[in-house]
Amino acid sequence: MDFDSQIGKSLALVGVALVALWVFRSKRPSKHFSLEELTTTSTGLSNVPGLAARGKLEKLANEVLEPMRERFGALQINSGFRSAAVNSAVNGSKTSSHLTGSAADLQALDGTPASTLAAWLYDSDLPLNQVIIYWNTGHLHVARDEGAKPYRRSFLQTYDGKNYEAWQPGGRRS
Ligand SMILES: [Zn+2]
Repeated sequence: MDFDSQIGKSLALVGVALVALWVFRSKRPSKHFSLEELTTTSTGLSNVPGLAARGKLEKLANEVLEPMRERFGALQINSGFRSAAVNSAVNGSKTSSHLTGSAADLQALDGTPASTLAAWLYDSDLPLNQVIIYWNTGHLHVARDEGAKPYRRSFLQTYDGKNYEAWQPGGRRS
């Protein structure tokens, strides 16, 4: 093999690697949820998940969000993955599941109340770590359990985004 064709081969390999990287980076986390949706932020800050967070977003989307979408129709994702900078800009908890790509704040596009979504999740066997009803904003925080069964499945509600109390279907205002 002469020198030029070696260079040609190397360039071809680099090209294939770049295309593979591009395909990976633009791969949708799941059928109905795009990476753009799951990394949306109003802060204007960079919000690019690393490999581990990408994997967790994919699991969140496939194991939790897709079943919810199948039951309730299109979901509006207000916040999914958050980089450390984005999380602190929105005053997120330092241990927030949004940091690992395991949580999303959402609402049903058709106006189904967050408490109705929560009640359905409560009766489901989805791998949930925590579900929080935000009565003040109307959205639902849903976090996938990153571990194995038995899942934590903590259900909470808050009226001000600061104080949290346990919630169960049929509880106050649900
Ligand atoms: Zn949240």
